[in-house]
Amino acid sequence: MGGDTAAPSLRADYFDGRSARARPVRLWLEQDQLVVHDQDLATVERRYPVRQVLWPERTRHGRRQAQLPDGGVLTTQDAGAWDDWVLAATDGRGLGTGLAATWFSSWRHTAVALVAVVAVAAATWHWGVPAVADTVARHVPATIEQSIGDHALEQLEGFLLKPSRIPEAEQREWRQRFAMMVASQPDLPANYQLHFRDTGRALGPNAFALPGGHIVVTDELLKLLGDQPDAVLGVLAHELGHVREQHGMRLTMRATLVGALLGVAIGDFSSVLAGAPTILMNASYSRDFERAADAQARQLLIDSGRSPRSMLLLFERLGDWRREREAQAKQAAASEPKGVARDMRDAAKAGAGEMLRIAFSSHPADEERMRFFER
Ligand SMILES: [Zn+2]
Repeated sequence: MGGDTAAPSLRADYFDGRSARARPVRLWLEQDQLVVHDQDLATVERRYPVRQVLWPERTRHGRRQAQLPDGGVLTTQDAGAWDDWVLAATDGRGLGTGLAATWFSSWRHTAVALVAVVAVAAATWHWGVPAVADTVARHVPATIEQSIGDHALEQLEGFLLKPSRIPEAEQREWRQRFAMMVASQPDLPANYQLHFRDTGRALGPNAFALPGGHIVVTDELLKLLGDQPDAVLGVLAHELGHVREQHGMRLTMRATLVGALLGVAIGDFSSVLAGAPTILMNASYSRDFERAADAQARQLLIDSGRSPRSMLLLFERLGDWRREREAQAKQAAASEPKGVARDMRDAAKAGAGEMLRIAFSSHPADEERMRFFER
């Protein structure tokens, strides 16, 4: 049985939906059936009607995952091989997205699908919330992630972000530098959009990433480190790391998942998603996310022929800037009478630290981070 087919096949990992262990399998199509052949247990072969499989969208993220009707999951990191196989196996027709094409056609159905994914994942995988949230985040179609990111950016434009005062030519130069740096890793996904914005003292020298690939850089960061392009590029690389690992989306899902599991009605899930931008403005990334983004920044600096040590100067200057701000705020608070004005000043002085905790300089460099870039 199996293995002796001439149909185009693909190696992938198979999860049975009960244990977290991956099994190596080979996939191919026979008429209207998907055949999943276990590589280790030659006698085990599963068959599913192609139409009942939830095929992945061709998203930009470097992973393909298909949901099987019995709760199993097929996955591969090699998106290119997956896409090639689909084209070869279907004579170029593609598999569509199966159920997904219909199900993800509206927000309401998306909500139902998400709840189903959450429920199945939570019930069958005995993983913690972060792992389930990550699974959900990976299942969210790129278009939805994009709309959450767009929406968050729109909200921030309203009260925090103002048009940049950096001259066009200089902005173009930064864009080119970063694009060239990113191009040194042609095999990694790099779907991002750079936005230059003036945030005055609110965010200070800073940068942050939103779902959908939006990376915002403040004028003050370029002013503080304009003479050290590698350090600025290191910050952008860190933000690109958040983009590549879908940290914004995963954070959003982690924050909403607990609420969802506690019984948010199905119809309400879309409003939970609509609240995602607010979550992004109030939550902060875990240390693991920051470590992962730092690791990506370091690798990108190295791959593009730069020294990760350029980040040390950045942390130093950010530290100086922060101390200066605190001193100023303390002075101002001392000369101010108690009351509303004082409260407002306190809120203002909290500034970068409290305003947008996912932003770069809102997570101060500790010894560990500095050592990481120093090595
Ligand atoms: Zn970060």
